[in-house]
Amino acid sequence: MAHEKLSDLFHDTLKDIYYAEGKILKALPKMAKGAQSPELKAAFEKHREETEGHVERLKQVFGIIGKPAQGKTCEAIEGILGEGNEILAEFKGTAALDAGLVSAAQAVEHYEIARYGTLKQWAKDLGLKDAVKLLDQTLTEESKTDEALTRLAEGGVNHKAMAA
Ligand code: FE
Ligand code: FE
Repeated sequence: MAHEKLSDLFHDTLKDIYYAEGKILKALPKMAKGAQSPELKAAFEKHREETEGHVERLKQVFGIIGKPAQGKTCEAIEGILGEGNEILAEFKGTAALDAGLVSAAQAVEHYEIARYGTLKQWAKDLGLKDAVKLLDQTLTEESKTDEALTRLAEGGVNHKAMAA
């Protein structure tokens, strides 16, 4: 019984992050286009490619549990991406735009890290070894992206925002 409920929770959360990844895939090109620093632009473009892989891995995880790959509206990612859009609009053409974009992107990565961390643990608990491996691969890429964004912020993006 307890096992059954945890697999329901796992499936629901999988649908949540599958929906979120689809939205992120659409948002990243907009963020890359908006970024002023070539390094930040490149970071967004690289992560867009990785995100295609995240969607693919999620499809495989749906396959492992014998369910169709299907999303479920995730209000959290709508809100986080909505704030990113506000930053894009409000700080367009200003020196602070890149710092704002880094902050918006890190909010996205942290949401993903929370979700994948949970899913990986639940997959472990449910004995879904192959799913653990797939979820861990994506979790690692999300964490590395978060770290790369921190390095960009430390490496000049924030200073540029203050200099103007
Ligand atoms: Fe992702
Ligand atoms: Fe990500």
